[in-house]
Amino acid sequence: MRRNSGELAKMRKAGRVVAEIHEATRAAIRPGVSTAEIDRVAREVLDRRGAGSNFLNYHGFPAVVCTSPNSMIVHGIPSETVILEEGDIISIDCGAIIEGYHGDAAYTTGVGTVSPEATRLMEVTERSLYAGIDQLQPGNRLHEVGRAVQQVAESAGFSVVREYVGHAIGTAMHEEPQVPNYWPGTPGPTLRSGMVFAIEPMVNAGGPATRLLDDGWSVVTADGRLSAHFEHTIAVTDEGPEVFTVL
Ligand code: MG
Ligand code: MG
Repeated sequence: MRRNSGELAKMRKAGRVVAEIHEATRAAIRPGVSTAEIDRVAREVLDRRGAGSNFLNYHGFPAVVCTSPNSMIVHGIPSETVILEEGDIISIDCGAIIEGYHGDAAYTTGVGTVSPEATRLMEVTERSLYAGIDQLQPGNRLHEVGRAVQQVAESAGFSVVREYVGHAIGTAMHEEPQVPNYWPGTPGPTLRSGMVFAIEPMVNAGGPATRLLDDGWSVVTADGRLSAHFEHTIAVTDEGPEVFTVL
C-alpha cells in the first residue's frame, strides 16, 4: 500500500517515538538491570509522548518491548527475574502508535564488554539491515531486500532466520507483504514511493534453526548460539529510503 504525505508524517512521528525508546533503553542497559526495568523505561517514553503500544496485548503479549538475551532471537517477555549480566547481548524490539499509525524497530547491544564474536555478530546484523534498506528504491523489487541481507550475513559466516520476517507497516504493525531476509524463491512486488516497510534481519552465529520455548513466545536458536536482531521502519521515496525510526 502507498501512503500519502499526511500518513507518512504520522508514521515519521511514530518512528521518532520508537527511536526515543531505543535511546532511553540503551541508557538503562547495564549489568544487574532486569528486563522488566527496560519495559518500564519504554513505557515512560510512550506515556510522555502520548503514544500507544502496538506490542502490549498483541495476541496477549504482556509488555511494550520484547527483550531477548543471547541465544534468544525474538519475542522475549520482560521479567523481574531476568537480570542482565556482564558479557550478555540483549535484543530490544519495540513499537509505538501515533494517531493510528505505527512504528517498529529493534536493536541488539552488549551488556558491558562482550566477546569478539558477539561484537562481530551485532555489527554484521546491523550492516545487513542497511544493505536491505539500500534496496528500498522505487522500481526495485522487494525480494532484493532479502537477497542483500542474506548476502551480508552469510558471507560473514552467519545464518539468517527463516521463520520470522519483516513486513509492511502502516495502520497496523504487521501488514502484507512480508519481507523475508533471504531470497524467497519467487520475485517480490515492485516498490513504489509511499510504501513503508519494517526490515528486520535476525542473524544467528550458528545455524538458522529456531525453537519456541514453553512460554509460547520466546524464540531461541536451536543450537544455543547467539542471535542478533536489528530493525527499522523505512519509507520508499523518490529521493531514496527514508528511515523513520531514528532521532
Ligand atoms: Mg519489531
Ligand atoms: Mg517488525
